Amino acid sequence: TRQYHLAKRPTGEPDMDCFDLVEVPTPDPDANEVLVKTLYLSVDPYMRGRMRDAESYAEPWDVGEPMRAGVVGEVVESNHAGFEAGDVVVGNLLWSEYTAVDGGELTSIDPDAAPVSTALGVVGMPGRTAYFGLLDVAQPKPGDTVVVSGAAGAVGSVVGQLAREAGCRVVGFAGSDTKTEWLTEELGFDAAINYKTTEDLGEALDDATPDGVDVYFDNVGGEITDAVFGQLNVDARVAVCGQISQYNATELPTGPRKLGTLIEKRARVEGLLVGDFAPRFEEATERLAGWVADGTIQYRETVTEGFENAPDAFLGLFEGENIGKQLVKVGER
Ligand code: NDP
Repeated sequence: TRQYHLAKRPTGEPDMDCFDLVEVPTPDPDANEVLVKTLYLSVDPYMRGRMRDAESYAEPWDVGEPMRAGVVGEVVESNHAGFEAGDVVVGNLLWSEYTAVDGGELTSIDPDAAPVSTALGVVGMPGRTAYFGLLDVAQPKPGDTVVVSGAAGAVGSVVGQLAREAGCRVVGFAGSDTKTEWLTEELGFDAAINYKTTEDLGEALDDATPDGVDVYFDNVGGEITDAVFGQLNVDARVAVCGQISQYNATELPTGPRKLGTLIEKRARVEGLLVGDFAPRFEEATERLAGWVADGTIQYRETVTEGFENAPDAFLGLFEGENIGKQLVKVGER
């Protein structure tokens, strides 16, 4: 079995030297354990935080040890009453072709209900983040203008569509014309701004939000956030989900630079962590699956082939190489 171990902690942008591809014996499952063959491995921006030796909501990985990831896999062998060979499961496993894990850490998925990869994206952790972050934290009302950064990513693309369904005007920021076209032409965003080719973000946002901004769902931080703060309305809600533009920073950045706006506009800023909503995961998963099945929510996936290419797929997140959810296809059922 091939695994990736954390070779060293990165300073600034991680590179291939941070990943060690090692060959280990395929584990034998112990009592109550299940041997899972990885079909899809999820790479996620928060993993950058786990490469760092700092206290955070996700434990740091140890250097020389396997890295962890969301995995959809097939049960090959089971010593757990809840699973049998052939079952398809999702869980937090290792960057590995095979993992032995306590059955209690796995959830079964129905391979006939939807493509199994969606359990890592639109109906998985990113979809649930969008669901709770927008509907519970930001609380959009019909007629609100909702702005989302990182809009063509796994979380952002779902946020925008949920906001559209909530009767809001939706504006997204994304890093290419292919992405902005997907947002406006297929996902029903009212406007989308390519932040890489737009000189004055504030002016572009001003044009796109004639009635100001009531909700800002932030995946990115930095200059985009400065621009949005300039357009907030009275009683605006800002849901801080991610700050990917800062994850590779070596020094603490300055900002957000427009906090004075919060006084003037009596706006609220709230951080969110999807794990806090664990008792309601089933509700979110069911509703998201329903919306995907009836076409209300569309999704895209960027699938990198081959386990060995997982680090490339991860590093690509910081270059915006993915549209929708970034996955690594590791094995076949
Ligand atoms: P995405 O699918 O959105 O992938 C990351 C995207 O971020 C890239 O495609 C890229 O798109 C954009 N990006 C990368 N670097 C920058 C930059 N410097 N400035 C602006 N945009 C950048 O990832 P996810 O949907 O999985 O995650 C989105 C955010 O949500 C992340 O910040 C993540 O950490 C956070 N998150 C938080 C959770 C929580 O519980 N709080 C749970 C899950 C995710 P582009 O081409 O547009 O630049």
